[in-house]
Amino acid sequence: MSREQLVVQRARKSFQTGNTRRLEYRIHQLKGLLRFITERQKDIADSVKRDLGKSEHATDLFETVGLEGEIKLAIEKLAEWAAPRPVEKNLLTLLDEVYIQPEPLGVVLIIGAWNYPWAITLQPLVGAIAAGNAAVIKPSEVSSHSAKVMEELLPQYLDKDLYPVVTGGVSETQELLKQRFDHIFYTGNSTVGKLVMGAAARHLTPVTLELGGKNPCYIDKNCDLTIACRRITWGKFVNCGQTCIAPDYILCEPSIQDRVVEEIKKSIKEFYTDNPKTFEDYGRIINQRHFKRVMALMEGSTVAVGGESDESQCYIAPTVLKDVKETSKVMKEEIFGPLLPIITVSNVDEAIQFINEREKPLVVYVFTHDNKLIKRVRDETSSGGLLANDCLIHFTVSALPFGGVGNSGMGCYHGKHSFEQLSHLRSCLITQLKLEGVNSMRYPPHTAKKLSWARFFLLKQVNVCRLRRMALLAIFTGLAAFLVQRFLRRG
Ligand code: NAD
Repeated sequence: MSREQLVVQRARKSFQTGNTRRLEYRIHQLKGLLRFITERQKDIADSVKRDLGKSEHATDLFETVGLEGEIKLAIEKLAEWAAPRPVEKNLLTLLDEVYIQPEPLGVVLIIGAWNYPWAITLQPLVGAIAAGNAAVIKPSEVSSHSAKVMEELLPQYLDKDLYPVVTGGVSETQELLKQRFDHIFYTGNSTVGKLVMGAAARHLTPVTLELGGKNPCYIDKNCDLTIACRRITWGKFVNCGQTCIAPDYILCEPSIQDRVVEEIKKSIKEFYTDNPKTFEDYGRIINQRHFKRVMALMEGSTVAVGGESDESQCYIAPTVLKDVKETSKVMKEEIFGPLLPIITVSNVDEAIQFINEREKPLVVYVFTHDNKLIKRVRDETSSGGLLANDCLIHFTVSALPFGGVGNSGMGCYHGKHSFEQLSHLRSCLITQLKLEGVNSMRYPPHTAKKLSWARFFLLKQVNVCRLRRMALLAIFTGLAAFLVQRFLRRG
């Protein structure tokens, strides 16, 4: 029996003990996870520094603060999320209990990616624990230092059997994918996403695929270009452009292209100094393979800003490419690195057409003062999310479902959405063995009269809350009338 098989078997056995059905147990585990990220902050930051050259504060800001918020929210809201949810009834079920009961799915496989190795791997885990599942955690082998720290330290804070960490590369992931899971939560590129979905199909296992794509960013010529470009510079070059929701390319009219270049250049200098290579808040490309891939994407395009690189350090400067053609290499795949191409379009119609001719992205960005334009872009394009006049921050709003559509993924998470995604929403109807007479309309022999009664009972939706409110109102009105009458009589 392979190690992966054993781990999954152990997780399933632990799940079957029923411990995770108890909310106190889940909260205890969530508190363990919270303790892990607070007590082991330094180990986490060191590992990310070694993987991606990121500073400690940047790791706090982009990896653990969000995680902390998600865990605290889950602890606070768990009782509410897990409670039975009464639904509207029809006349036939008026006297019954009819509700949705969220229940755990079983054993979840979480496959993480390397670009934010902690946030991306542990945020789905928050949902898995909250929903009462066991979870096998597979961090990306590409961010090897983070994976090692996760494997060594996480089991000291969580139930080892229920939430095991499995490290290893493609072959280990493939071995895991042969096992039967109750849900697979994968973050990574679309090519592997298809393999994951194929493997899941063999067991009819549902999947969440958090994928990537090319996120367009349209800048309206009448907007405040200084602020817009400052925000775009931040969103693009944070983590060296290795962010799934980074703006991939800019669309703007030719008349503002040079100003956009100048403003971005100014912001790069403001954020990362004249020499980003020696500045601690500018990271590195994850490895030589990705370094070569990103460098190759620059071929054939005009560098307007940056362009410098150092292979020995996997360093690529924040780079802006101008007058980029849609046939250029850099437009053929998700960049996932610090290159920002600008493509000129004659107006917003052309920008919308450009976006719609391509795969649905994870996010569409639009910068403008014009609310009508924002609504137009929202209504005439499709993407996982839409963000106007800023970058990345929709990721921080736990109430927004985070995920893609079409080629950028399926399913979503964050906050309550993670809980829902990793729960089964079970339909429950509890009736009594009484009032059998009412049921005669559904028993044979079927007649026209019975059918008309059935239509009446089945097609009438009853909003119980409204009914209750109306009943209360009637009682209050009656009471008021009674009191007024007595008062008048005395007078
Ligand atoms: P990666 O190389 O770390 O791969 C992700 C996982 O897939 C790893 O755990 C790896 O073991 C596994 N894997 C790789 N090849 C495999 C194979 N042939 N069979 C089975 N498993 C395999 O990460 P990546 O794909 O380079 O990540 C970058 C991509 O992820 C980008 O496209 C980015 O946009 C996307 N991403 C999306 C989100 C999101 O939330 N939507 C977040 C981060 C990254």
